[in-house]
Amino acid sequence: MSNEGGSKICVPVLGESAEQMLVQMDKAKVLGADLVEIRLDYLQSFEPRRDLELLIGRCPLPTVITYRPKWEGGKYEGDDDKRLGALRLAMELGADYVDVEFKVASELINSISQRKPEKCKVIVSSHNFDNTPSSDDIGNLATRMQAVGADIVKIVTTALDITDVLRIFQLTRNSQVPMIGLAMNERGFISRLLCPKFGGYLTYACLEKGQSSALWQPKIDDLLNIFNFRLLGPNSKVAGLIGNPVGHSKAATMFNPIFKTVGFDGVYVPFLVDDVPNFLKSFNSPNFVGWSCTIPHKEEALRSCDELDPIAKSIGAVNTIIRKPDGKFIGYNTDYFGAISAIENKLRDLQNLPDGTGSPLAGKLFVVMGAGGTGKALSYGAKAKGARVVIANRTYSRAKEIADSVGGEALTLAELANYHPEEGTVLANTTSVGMQPNDNESPIPKHSLKRYGLVFDAVYTPKMTRLLRDAEESGVTIVTGVDMLIIQAYEQYERFTNLPAPKELFWEVMSGY
Ligand code: NAP
Repeated sequence: MSNEGGSKICVPVLGESAEQMLVQMDKAKVLGADLVEIRLDYLQSFEPRRDLELLIGRCPLPTVITYRPKWEGGKYEGDDDKRLGALRLAMELGADYVDVEFKVASELINSISQRKPEKCKVIVSSHNFDNTPSSDDIGNLATRMQAVGADIVKIVTTALDITDVLRIFQLTRNSQVPMIGLAMNERGFISRLLCPKFGGYLTYACLEKGQSSALWQPKIDDLLNIFNFRLLGPNSKVAGLIGNPVGHSKAATMFNPIFKTVGFDGVYVPFLVDDVPNFLKSFNSPNFVGWSCTIPHKEEALRSCDELDPIAKSIGAVNTIIRKPDGKFIGYNTDYFGAISAIENKLRDLQNLPDGTGSPLAGKLFVVMGAGGTGKALSYGAKAKGARVVIANRTYSRAKEIADSVGGEALTLAELANYHPEEGTVLANTTSVGMQPNDNESPIPKHSLKRYGLVFDAVYTPKMTRLLRDAEESGVTIVTGVDMLIIQAYEQYERFTNLPAPKELFWEVMSGY
């Protein structure tokens, strides 16, 4: 069912007292919520008439009254008669919605049949904390929920794999009644972000981290200001990052403000993916334009694409997958260009070289730490620019494999600590060492850094990694992973949107990092 008014944002208020809830409601209104869900089961002491009059009367937004029992994931442990009595009272006192569990919904609905206030809508809800059933089973459940007299059907499942979310999207998009469909946990996170695209009646958002009624509920601020919730609709295109983990990524905070500024009807979201081939098979529809690809999927992505750009093929890793209009997937590698350009730009600045002259990497010694997808891209790129390449990796055999393919030398990371580079050597980290939450780690001891001419780190969370701090303190020029992130994203942006990359805007948006 298309959601004509657009999907709503509902903020649950979870105070232990009515006074705390009043404060939270006001905050929800200021932050831009459409609805407030009053979770009566969170109140330490609850006096139905007094508290409901106060909470419904003083709420600056339409109210959803929920009194969730323990047997459906809430906190209320008393008997159901009292609970349903409170919901009936909430209707009388002017609640805009009441949320009642499917198991007891007919009891509530039958008991109010003639007396239901016209403005009050009954949300009949079902929570599955184990999995996401088949489309047929969810469809049957929705039909049964509708048959008990639901004004709005709410089905919340648990995503064990990101492909489970597609069944939720199918449900909300095709429903004949207003439908709330969400999939819990990190693998279901996109169901909370993309609900306007797939016709969901509402999504829930918390005021602050730690104030959510479910894990992986987004903050309202992120929903509105990172994920462009209000701008999304059925025709919006979806791009994103596939990886595991994906929580550290800054890509959404880079792409989404740019989409908004240039008026591109699309959104970029994180996809926590376990199995790349299965993901691509399932997410193959024109709704999804393409993906950036990160740890640990860059090599699997290479094997999973139908076609490969020649550079990605030579590197042996894919960091960008684009869905072509014929449904085939083509893999590119933009890491190579991003990292090498960021390093070249810095060397050109240092040496006052104008653009358009040959690469300042030609003839230089270039040491790459790490032999994963990014290590391959940098080794390939440095070699293509005429540098002599050394690859150092924890697992020697992987370093050797790349060294053999680019005609370079292989070392272990331990050997690199005592390596004597020649003057002006570039050192590039492509291991994940130093990435949050392990910010205090570095792949190489500080005392080994002072002989290098430039140190680059592909890790960009944090921007100033331990390695870069050590290098700077040793008087060595540095280039950050944020520079790489921005430059490698130009081509991704162009392929996602079919628009020229607004390069200055990229730097402006990322200037705060
Ligand atoms: P990957 O394919 O999984 O490779 C990871 C590499 O890190 C391997 O060489 C691995 O060594 C090494 N490694 C992991 N843990 C280690 C440890 N504890 N000690 C020593 N070595 C360790 O990952 P990737 O996709 O290439 O990404 C690598 C890093 O680059 C990530 O932090 C990613 O965020 C960053 N990155 C940044 C950008 C950007 O735009 N700035 C772009 C791409 C990637 P083994 O072979 O021994 O396992």
